[in-house]
Parts: sequence; structure tokens; C-alpha cells
Amino acid sequence: MKLILLGAPGAGKGTVAKMLTELDGSVQISTGDILRGAVQAGTELGKQAEAFMKAGDLVPDELIMGIMESRLQEPDCDKGFLLDGFPRTIPQADALKELLAKLNIELDMAVNIDVPRDVILDRLTTRRTCSNTDCQAIYNVKSNPPKQEGVCDMCGSPVVQREDETEEAISHRLETYNEKTAPLIGFYDKEGLLITSDATSSDAVINLIKEKLGL
Ligand code: ADP
Ligand code: ZN
Repeated sequence: MKLILLGAPGAGKGTVAKMLTELDGSVQISTGDILRGAVQAGTELGKQAEAFMKAGDLVPDELIMGIMESRLQEPDCDKGFLLDGFPRTIPQADALKELLAKLNIELDMAVNIDVPRDVILDRLTTRRTCSNTDCQAIYNVKSNPPKQEGVCDMCGSPVVQREDETEEAISHRLETYNEKTAPLIGFYDKEGLLITSDATSSDAVINLIKEKLGL
């Protein structure tokens, strides 16, 4: 399947994407994970992205398109991909449309995961992430804590609160979402690709996607 997952930070895009990869071998492509990996590895991309990310601002469109242009041409994308956290602005959506046309790739749909703001705020402040950039497993101190406090079940690395998950950075990320990313809902509706899920459970979102894809 070839999907775009839309939704505010904390809507569950990453969780849904991980679950979908198990259905048919499609790969999850998270620009946030790629950028955090680059920051930790200290690459040129990481150096350019770091300050934006820490402040909860978007990384410039040109940097993101550079990443995605090469990522979408890697062979593992042949089976399908789940775009998680990309596109995030109208210019990115326009550039993606052009890129996909050039690569002869057709999207199945764009799924808008629409979760109420109070649920989002609660999730983001209680979310914890594995610090190993090859893992980045997601936990929640209330609903899904690691078996041993502060230690990743999957890889044993420390589980931490992301630097952009302070209250200030979170409210800034949500503002940025409303201003820059929410307009993509109208964009993909016009393209005839939009489906909306207002379920708060990831299982329900998965079921809706399966139903729409006839799986
Ligand atoms: P979340 O969806 O929880 O906000 P992500 O892990 O998707 O977090 O992104 C973390 C940060 O990485 C964003 O706040 C932003 O700085 C940067 N980022 C990720 N994807 C993009 C993108 N498509 N365009 C611009 N910046 C991005
Ligand atoms: Zn881990």
C-alpha cells in the first residue's frame, strides 16, 4: 500500500504506520525518525535540522524534499510505503505530487487521523521514546510503559522524553500543525484521496484503512 498519514503530533501516525508495515511489508518512512537519526549521527543534514527541531519548528522544505527524493527511490519502497510526518506543508505536497508523477507512483490514499486536542496534549506529555535512533520505539508512561522503567523492551537502550516534548515546544508544534499542515486535509480532499478517521484507538484506524483498501 502507498499511503500518506496525516494528523497532528501525537495523533498516532507512527503507531499506525508500524502496525501497517506488518500487514504487507510496506515500509514506514518517518521524516522525524530520519532527522533525529541525522542529528544524533552529526551529519550535515543533522546540523542543519537540529535547531529547527529543538524549537518545534519545521525543517525547511528543500531539506525535506532532498531526503524524500532519494528515500522514495530506494528498492524497499517497491512493496509500498507509509509516509509518516511527510508532507507537512503545501509546498511539500506540491513537490511530492510532482516527484510521484516523475517516478510513476500512484498513492492509494491520504488518511487523516483526527484526534481531539485534549487527547493529543495528554499523549504528548506522557510519551517517551527509545533513544536508540535505529529503534525509536514509542512508549507512554500511563498507557504503555516499558517493562522495566526507562529501558526499551525492544533493544535495552534508555527510554527518554524527546527534547521537543517540553510543554512549550509541544504547544508550538501544535500551532505549527494548525497553520502549516492542517491545510493538507483540503489539498488531499481535492485530489480525491482523503479519508478521515476520528477514532482514538490505533486498531480502529487500521480497520478503517483495511476496509477502504479491501484487505
Ligand atoms: P511529531 O509528528 O510527533 O511532531 P516528528 O517525529 O514527525 O514528530 O517530527 C519531529 C520534528 O522533525 C518536527 O517538529 C520538525 O521539526 C521535523 N520534521 C519532521 N518531518 C518534517 C517535515 N515533513 N517537514 C518539516 N519538518 C519536519
Ligand atoms: Zn529501543
